Amino acid sequence: MPQNKVLPGSTIGIIGGGQLGRMMATAAKHLGYRIAVLDPTPNCPTAQVADEQIVAAYDDLEAVGQLADTSDVITYEFENVDLEAARLLETKGMLPQGADLLRITQDREQEKRMMAENELPISPFAIVHNQEELQQAIQQKIELPVVVKTCRGGYDGKGQFKIENETDIEGASEFVMKNKRCIVEKWVPFEKEISVIFTRSQNGEISLFPVAENEHKDHVLHQTIAPAQISETVKQKAIAAARTVAEGINVVGTFAIEMFVQREEIYLNEMAPRPHNSGHYTIEACNVSQFEQHIRAVCGLPLLPVYFHGAAIMLNLLGDDVDYYTNNLDVVSSAHVHVYGKGEVKPKRKMGHLTFVGTQIQQLQQLVTQQTKQHITS
Ligand code: AMP
Repeated sequence: MPQNKVLPGSTIGIIGGGQLGRMMATAAKHLGYRIAVLDPTPNCPTAQVADEQIVAAYDDLEAVGQLADTSDVITYEFENVDLEAARLLETKGMLPQGADLLRITQDREQEKRMMAENELPISPFAIVHNQEELQQAIQQKIELPVVVKTCRGGYDGKGQFKIENETDIEGASEFVMKNKRCIVEKWVPFEKEISVIFTRSQNGEISLFPVAENEHKDHVLHQTIAPAQISETVKQKAIAAARTVAEGINVVGTFAIEMFVQREEIYLNEMAPRPHNSGHYTIEACNVSQFEQHIRAVCGLPLLPVYFHGAAIMLNLLGDDVDYYTNNLDVVSSAHVHVYGKGEVKPKRKMGHLTFVGTQIQQLQQLVTQQTKQHITS
């Protein structure tokens, strides 16, 4: 595909104005771009660093048209962009990532079918629409324990129901009835969760970031460690799977794939066609961040080769954590601090993050434990 070049000085439109849009915008501003953002919340995190904001709902087609009129190219910070709007932008030649990436990643059924078609390692799954199909799936296809997830709209563990044993089936049936189309997946007793983040340019060049390891608390990402502490075999499997996805669905931009690791096997879980929370460490720990590579890909600039300092730990600041850490910067004196500028602090809401960078992961882990222990134990 010929590169669609959008040069510095031009305007990049971003659909969605949260922290991902903000960090994309910051990277783009360094390169000399203007930023327009579409988001319903006035002065949202991205608007604070952008040149202009269109205050409207993401699925307001007129507002998307307005964003297109004021921009030279458009990208997004989340996958739940209105598909009709995305197709319209693609037709106008303004969405280098294309609408198809969104069609696949907005829907777990599409995502899993694509992975199965490409013979990627996934845990067994079935699509169910009612109680009968759920029973059938459990009796004939997938042994307990399983997890039932909504096909659309779930994130951070929302829209999930785990069935450990027969007694959970009734609750799960109600969950399916309420949500109509669901995916039932075999529960993977994984040892680790990892993510592979890469960027693919419009002419098919792929640049990979180090594979990272993720620890969740209550289904929300708590900590990312890079590089992931995994064997070379697992790493190569993870990278090969990421390359298959990248080529298979013609990815453009930064893209993330979450995977489970059980012994020497990997199982692909979820994908995101955008920079990812587990890639925030790249801002300080690599010569080029997941956000800058994304902007480069979308604007048709060359991708940079990725160099990594050797070790990074990123901690999410959820809810009140952000106040604790911003008031105690002398305690976390080695951390790079990011505060997203969200108006309201809510429990579990991602308000900011800390990144610690070093050259050696064990030493860095000790340092992070020392500097964060006071908060953890209090
Ligand atoms: P998801 O929304 O698919 O990313 O799932 C959120 C979290 O639930 C994952 O990060 C895992 O910790 C857990 N989870 C989801 N699916 C499975 C599965 N099939 N087996 C084991 N754990 C899972």
